[in-house]
Amino acid sequence: MSIVVVSTGGTIASTEDAGGDASPDLTGEDLVAAVPGLDEIATIETRDFANVPSPHFTVDQMGDLAAFVEDLDADPDVDGIVVTQGTDILEETAYFLDLCYDGIAPVVVTGAMRNPSLPSPDGPMNLATSVRVAADGRARGDVLVAFNERVHAAREVTKTNSMNVDTFRTPEFGPLAVADESRLTWRRESIDPDPAFDVDVDDLTNDVHAVTATADMPPAQVAAAGDAAALCLAATGAGHIPPAIIPALESLRDAGVPLIATTRCPEGRLARETYGFRGSEATLQELDCYYSDLNLQKTRIKAIVALAADALDDAFDAPGN
Ligand code: ASP
Repeated sequence: MSIVVVSTGGTIASTEDAGGDASPDLTGEDLVAAVPGLDEIATIETRDFANVPSPHFTVDQMGDLAAFVEDLDADPDVDGIVVTQGTDILEETAYFLDLCYDGIAPVVVTGAMRNPSLPSPDGPMNLATSVRVAADGRARGDVLVAFNERVHAAREVTKTNSMNVDTFRTPEFGPLAVADESRLTWRRESIDPDPAFDVDVDDLTNDVHAVTATADMPPAQVAAAGDAAALCLAATGAGHIPPAIIPALESLRDAGVPLIATTRCPEGRLARETYGFRGSEATLQELDCYYSDLNLQKTRIKAIVALAADALDDAFDAPGN
């Protein structure tokens, strides 16, 4: 069993300088060397893709990483791939990979909340769990996130706590598996309704705006997407927006800016036929909004990938059309 660990930076690869400030400086080899017994699970190779804090990641780098992972999968000697990254935007990278990856080897994304200079760093355990998952036949062809002894679908997982090690959760549905000692206990299937998108890195744009609806918000927040490639909007509740932003949304629609709606609630989806007041889900449908069942940051990633693949209609439902 041969697993490749691809390191990209983040807290898992960060150490503190003399002033106590942590930044990424460890290599993949350093990360692997910190986990006793890893070579008893699989033969490990490492690749250093980047060494950055995850908020520095661009969508072009996500595209390059997806191509990098595809290339690794093309090697018949590679059975599984683990990607280490900073946790801040890890859910976005993992979902980007999920949307673009069409390979067989499992891809498991992980990181850490406590860097190796702190007491009780969580990176080594997360790496050990990830290698176990990547070596497990149940994970074939999937993109997963393994963190704090739980395994989540890349599509569903989100970072829920800014500081605590127990940060990655799958709202509403829970993890796919848990890791106890050296055993993985799988409890549900990963159901992935998304097609794999064939994307050229040159076609990716970061010019997709993402706005959360808030009480009495300034319409200028929406109007700012006038020249954007798309606007993703997290509506309140089941798909509701302040009426004051409707004219700005109408202008965007009339100008051909795709509108993609989701809910700002951590759980649940947009309604289709419950309310009819101005600013309700009926208005979203009159605005020709696409419907997303992902959180706002993942909705934006899917919009970016789907735009690059010229496949918005395949990517999202459009109940108003
Ligand atoms: N706090 C972050 C982390 O957990 C920093 C980053 O995302 O790179 O890795």
